[in-house]
Amino acid sequence: MRAMVFEEVGKPLILKDIPCPIPQPFEVLIKTKTCGVCRTDLHIVDGELLSPKLPLILGHQVVGIVDQLGVSVTKHKVGDRVGIPWLGSCCQACEFCTLGKENLCDKAVYTGYMRDGGYAEYCTAHEDFVLPLSKEYDDLHTAPLLCAGLIGYRAFRLAGDVKTIGFYGFGSAAHLLIQVACALQKQVYVFTRPQDIETQSFAITLGATWAGGSDQLPPVALDAAIIFAPVGALYPEALKATKKGGRVISAGIHMSDIPSFPYSLLWGERSISSVANLTRQDGLDFMQLVKTLNLQITVSSFALEDANLALTAIRTGKLVGSAVLQIN
Ligand SMILES: [Zn+2]
Ligand SMILES: [Zn+2]
Repeated sequence: MRAMVFEEVGKPLILKDIPCPIPQPFEVLIKTKTCGVCRTDLHIVDGELLSPKLPLILGHQVVGIVDQLGVSVTKHKVGDRVGIPWLGSCCQACEFCTLGKENLCDKAVYTGYMRDGGYAEYCTAHEDFVLPLSKEYDDLHTAPLLCAGLIGYRAFRLAGDVKTIGFYGFGSAAHLLIQVACALQKQVYVFTRPQDIETQSFAITLGATWAGGSDQLPPVALDAAIIFAPVGALYPEALKATKKGGRVISAGIHMSDIPSFPYSLLWGERSISSVANLTRQDGLDFMQLVKTLNLQITVSSFALEDANLALTAIRTGKLVGSAVLQIN
């Protein structure tokens, strides 16, 4: 099969012909249709996420068709259309796993990081960690739901029952989540790189109440804020924009250091938090929710061999919406 292979930190992915993987017991072989490109992939390539499997096939927003069943598989059949998200497996026995917090499992294995993902014509997945997909969205537009949408949704739920919410950064995840938030009657205030008028206009067309630069304060104090950009300096900015009792949540897996800031910004029972990974229940809940929402998913599609171009587009912030590899 053709695959884009990551071999060395800081080096571009290389297009290779490699043997198709063989599904192990309880695994399915999936013929990849599309695979979303995530900022996390960039963090792996740049060496910001440590100790990836090497060589590695990136990609944890995989849409495909079950092509072959490993021994003992009972949950899927050949021909099923399925999605593979970031959580590739977990121990299902530790205190986190048994309390519904499998996103925090120490033995979790992540797709496209610790096991091969979807930047290839085929990949395998454990049958318990494969998501059923709905027909409402085609392969191209389903891919970004599997991480950008899903982990964004986890962050959004952690924000609590709010009326006004700020989004810092407006890329793949935020452009989906704003539509979810608006459908749930929230007012969304969007903060982009200063002077990024194009992205601010895009946010307004998707329902933002207000859009401005991250160096600006919103016209009202916010109940909560989610930081989508991997920029630690946004924490104090977001705290300034948030009212007493409000929560500021980072939705990303990696971030530059958070600079020191005066305690007065945190005072008034404001809190800061991160969001880590996802649970299978998050996946099922989110897929159920999006069926009813008719999301407008903005996608830039790339050929498999152009995966490096897609990563560069995310790095430079030149992309509107989500990058997706169109594979089979
Ligand atoms: Zn566990
Ligand atoms: Zn991701």
